[in-house]
Amino acid sequence: MKCPNCGHQLRIGKTYMTFKNDDTPNAQTEAYTNLPMICGNSRCGNFGRTDLSNPTKIVQTVTNRLNG
Ligand SMILES: [Zn+2]
Repeated sequence: MKCPNCGHQLRIGKTYMTFKNDDTPNAQTEAYTNLPMICGNSRCGNFGRTDLSNPTKIVQTVTNRLNG
């Protein structure tokens, strides 16, 4: 995946999990991984890679469903 602003390859920041339906017994719990995509080009308006685990800006978050 590339930065839509400058075309640099985006880096993956710190991934994290989210869940849906974990508060209801009537639906199957869905688990997702979320990958923050960060631009490492310091001259780009989307630049956020001062700290990959705590970026100043996230270009896009890629969400993948794990189960179901
Ligand atoms: Zn960029």
